[in-house]
Amino acid sequence: MKVMKFGGTSVGRPERMHQVAQLITQTDEPVIVVLSALSGTTNALVSISDSLAAGDREAAKQKIDALHTHYSNFITILVEKEEFVNKAIAIVEEHFEFLNIILRISFSEALNKDILAQGELMSTKLFSVYLEEKGIDHLLLPALEFMSIDANEEPQLNTISNKLKVLLQQHRNKKLFITQGYICRNARGEVDNLKRGGSDYTASLIAAAVNASVCEIWTDIDGMHNNDPRVVDKTMPIEILSFDEAAELAYFGAKILHPTCIWPAQQTNVPVKLLNTMQPQAKGTTIAEDAKSVGIKAVAAKDGIIAINIKSSRMLLAYGFLRKVFEVFEKYRTPIDMITTSEVAVSVTIDNAAHLDEVKKELEPFGTVEVDLDQTIVSIVGNEIAETPEVLKKLFDAISGIPVRMVSYGGSKHNISLLVPAAFKKQMLQQINKGVFGL
Ligand code: ADP
Ligand code: ASP
Ligand code: MG
Repeated sequence: MKVMKFGGTSVGRPERMHQVAQLITQTDEPVIVVLSALSGTTNALVSISDSLAAGDREAAKQKIDALHTHYSNFITILVEKEEFVNKAIAIVEEHFEFLNIILRISFSEALNKDILAQGELMSTKLFSVYLEEKGIDHLLLPALEFMSIDANEEPQLNTISNKLKVLLQQHRNKKLFITQGYICRNARGEVDNLKRGGSDYTASLIAAAVNASVCEIWTDIDGMHNNDPRVVDKTMPIEILSFDEAAELAYFGAKILHPTCIWPAQQTNVPVKLLNTMQPQAKGTTIAEDAKSVGIKAVAAKDGIIAINIKSSRMLLAYGFLRKVFEVFEKYRTPIDMITTSEVAVSVTIDNAAHLDEVKKELEPFGTVEVDLDQTIVSIVGNEIAETPEVLKKLFDAISGIPVRMVSYGGSKHNISLLVPAAFKKQMLQQINKGVFGL
């Protein structure tokens, strides 16, 4: 069994969907295909939700109508024969009827999740109609029947695996399954999701759940590149990454992968491949246990970081101080990314500002608290990075002139992280591309 996940751009145009149908039928193994929403759809749904949350029904209605037109046009090219055109129209009408009904009911978090789920529901149903038109035997497997998160919003691999195996067993005669990325049920049984970009996570969870031979993530680029192609001009694909390296890159901002999508594959040792739908013959990136080489492989950047510095002369030689500081973050369920300490101060970074005010208030009795918004973590990632000759010299030479606020080295064998004001991100990535990667 193999898993093939196609992202928003891979299904964002009817011709691309046609191409996806070709790719998934070129294999002898049974396949579970995971689809994202058409590109732009989830952003549009978030925006519709935001308008509703703000009480602006008129704006929400306009956005729903624009999206409706987009889908109506999409299906005219997706399918040809009248029977399938009618089926596709019925799907689109059903989902937009739902979106129009929500205009009249009061907004809630549960409703928001229902709205966000429409994209993946539509893309998979429409793709299924296209496959039907082409006579490609398959089964639409509803993710809401097996993908779930617990009360801490964590997917439970065992539960998912058990449910999925039962479903697959019921359809032993099928070789091709289509399911939705991103969406799931929460502990209350409501529709929920695995956070933005979460279709990769769905794919990896499914791959782990069925112990797949491979988890292929098909996207719009030929694998993980050494630097962010949206920020610097010249980047190159990396052929091999270890799970640890890929997890660090995803966590520290390489958008090609959802931050937590590596662990399920790693846990079950299922290789992950990053491939390009528009260039299927390109090698892409293979992610597996062994990094195959030592040294720097890539740099990534994570935006929206907040630095918090707590300065206290009482910290001097005091044990238990850090515990008290960490307890505040634990209380407000706010994970810490980076940490540096000195004898009298500690600096940490967080990316979740939801409880910033409460955290700040509870830290104030410990000393002077300073908060810097709008920071970026730049992470240099590679297997046994410390063993790269003169790695720090090379890095610091490359970034001369950039005001670095924090440095973290040694916590992980695969990562050096630097915190800089967001305004310096582009310059930093460009200088690293030149000075470290020689590009
Ligand atoms: P999908 O819709 O298929 O999930 P995403 O937009 O989520 O695709 O991810 C692919 C994009 O990730 C690429 O188009 C690229 O711009 C961006 N990206 C950011 N950093 C990297 C990187 N280091 N290597 C490759 N792509 C990256
Ligand atoms: N459609 C969702 C998003 O845009 C999930 C995904 O594409 O991975 O975030
Ligand atoms: Mg993505």
